[in-house]
Amino acid sequence: MQQAITGYHQDENHDWVAELACGHYQHVRHKPPFTQRPWVQTAEGRASMLGQTLACKKCELGAPADEPKVPKVVVESNRERTLRLIQAIARGDADAIADAYADDGKLHTMGNTPISGVYDKSQIRQFAGSVLEAFPDGLTYTVHAVTAEGNRVAVEATGSGRHVSGKDYVNHYHFLFTWRDGKLLELKEYMDTETVTEVLCGGVQRG
Ligand SMILES: [Zn+2]
Repeated sequence: MQQAITGYHQDENHDWVAELACGHYQHVRHKPPFTQRPWVQTAEGRASMLGQTLACKKCELGAPADEPKVPKVVVESNRERTLRLIQAIARGDADAIADAYADDGKLHTMGNTPISGVYDKSQIRQFAGSVLEAFPDGLTYTVHAVTAEGNRVAVEATGSGRHVSGKDYVNHYHFLFTWRDGKLLELKEYMDTETVTEVLCGGVQRG
């Protein structure tokens, strides 16, 4: 699919990357003799190619838009912040949980249970405090795998605890944390919603 060049940036090796109208990035290297793009070497040359089109393979693959490269050190601190936040959730530390979020941060609890939905920061603070009411001994998260890429951290974990009703709660989670400048922009939690309804909501379904 042909897409127009809308801008440029350089990668970590100082190779030029074209930004396309579709949101995808594509390297535009000058590597003679096989790849001849002398225009990429000068500002005038690059400017002259703005609006010209390139074939975009990522469009054919249905790939999501590319994002600016996040430095490795940021990826690693996102990973650490994520693990610290999971510990704060486990012990029901409402302040630590709420403080981790950006002011426009959101929690998205998946599914159609009575507690499913999208919560803003003030709701998250209330919600976080109620974890200890539901689980007086706290929750335990066993983290199985963490995948950090860009500003996203995906975590597979098992959460368990003794619910205030006396029932044992065990659920398998896939969390997706999206960070921005050290603050949590969004947490999506995917889990077995039937277990949520049965134990956390006492079998009561969304009305
Ligand atoms: Zn594309």
